[in-house]
Amino acid sequence: MKKIPAEKNRSSWMDILITCTILSLIVGGSYLIFLSKKSSSASTKNTGHAATSIPTTVDTIDSKYPGIKINTEISNDPDTPVAVQYPQSTDETFNTEIKKYIKQAKDHYSAEITAYKEIGEDITGELNISFKTFSHHSGMYSFILETYSYVGGANGETEIQSFYFNPKTGESITIEDIFENDVNRLSDISEAIREQLYNDPKIKDYLFSDEVSKHTEPIWNNFQKFALTDDSLIFYFNKYDIAAGAVGIPTASISLDKLDKLLATEFKMKEEKAKDNTKETAATEKNNGDKDELDTNEKDMTSENKRVALTFDDGPDPKVTTQILETLKKYDAKATFFMLGSRVEYYPDIAKNVQAAGHELGNHTWTHPNLVKASAKKISNEINNTSTIIEDVTGQKATSFRPPYGAFNDTVSEQSDLPIILWDVDTLDWKHRNPNQLLAYVKQSTKDGSIILMHDIHQSTADGLDAVLAYLKDEGYEFVTVSQLNE
Ligand code: ZN
Repeated sequence: MKKIPAEKNRSSWMDILITCTILSLIVGGSYLIFLSKKSSSASTKNTGHAATSIPTTVDTIDSKYPGIKINTEISNDPDTPVAVQYPQSTDETFNTEIKKYIKQAKDHYSAEITAYKEIGEDITGELNISFKTFSHHSGMYSFILETYSYVGGANGETEIQSFYFNPKTGESITIEDIFENDVNRLSDISEAIREQLYNDPKIKDYLFSDEVSKHTEPIWNNFQKFALTDDSLIFYFNKYDIAAGAVGIPTASISLDKLDKLLATEFKMKEEKAKDNTKETAATEKNNGDKDELDTNEKDMTSENKRVALTFDDGPDPKVTTQILETLKKYDAKATFFMLGSRVEYYPDIAKNVQAAGHELGNHTWTHPNLVKASAKKISNEINNTSTIIEDVTGQKATSFRPPYGAFNDTVSEQSDLPIILWDVDTLDWKHRNPNQLLAYVKQSTKDGSIILMHDIHQSTADGLDAVLAYLKDEGYEFVTVSQLNE
């Protein structure tokens, strides 16, 4: 801040300067207040239920894992791309614990990026947090979070973290619980894990034996990262901790039968196992009821209208996608949904609704990574796993592919059988979260043949869509899918 000089006879330009300084401080201050108000109202809005005290709502009805929802936060800022996904429940202790971990990871990442920028290095980093969900018949879920951060150099860092929650009972679980808190069982656990690692053909040749010994020493602390399923306990290690990078994330999966003698009575599940196997979904029924819609679309193709393709990325979402489907129906508009495999897994019914309404299904990878930095194997896994779940759940194949952040290179093109679709109208809806701005961006740059980018995980996008469709319809546009546009 500027110091006010003490002399009495200061010149008049000094008075002006001081006045300006004070004025700009006042204006700057109010702007900051405005900004903080704006961001807090935006984050409330984001939950869709402003009235509840905690900004987390759980769409339990539509999730494949009752009591759990998947949260997806994506920042498309080209300098610091971030894609973070994590589970949330109605339990605040569980939610707070996970959010604390996520916040730490995000803060750490932005601090490192800022540090590089301060020394004048222009680097593009990446933060990607994804998770796997495992369920046990007791209602206990294990969530294995994988945090990948890259801030320059040859390799990024990968960290595994695990969380546990049973929405039926509100309880968590520890490895000590599973083994009756008995230290005498530790050496047997350790031995079972070592045996599994040294017999796994995918891992055994890459193990660092000293590190294996250290990380499987018979102490509870070594076994904190695990997933409990009906059949097995899967132990996780950090990348590079016990094996070469080629292995990826090393795991040791040990059948519960084998551990039976060591397990606490509560977790001896042989007798329960059969009961739960019936839960596997058979959602592969093909739906042939869409013939009429296809015919209608073909008819539309012959008209002379200007055409525009609406695209929605990063979904599906129970509330936002559903509202968008209603708005599209009102205007008899067809669109393309570039879905994340991780969210299709959580919300199969919503993905199915998108298909049933006659929209084009697009693939947007499973975890939303920057594919330009990924290996060919990782790229093909991301694309293929997502195509598989989309077809399994909806009975229809994904017909186009949009790489996250629009980032691709020759390796990505080689790994994708689907046409790569980008966009020319960016609504920046992920950034402003303002329903009115959606229309402003569309008005500014839409022309015949445009592909408009939006995201169906933001409530503001669903809220602003009606005005966008009304405007485009008025301008004489016809709404088509990206494949129809490229025919
Ligand atoms: Zn995206």
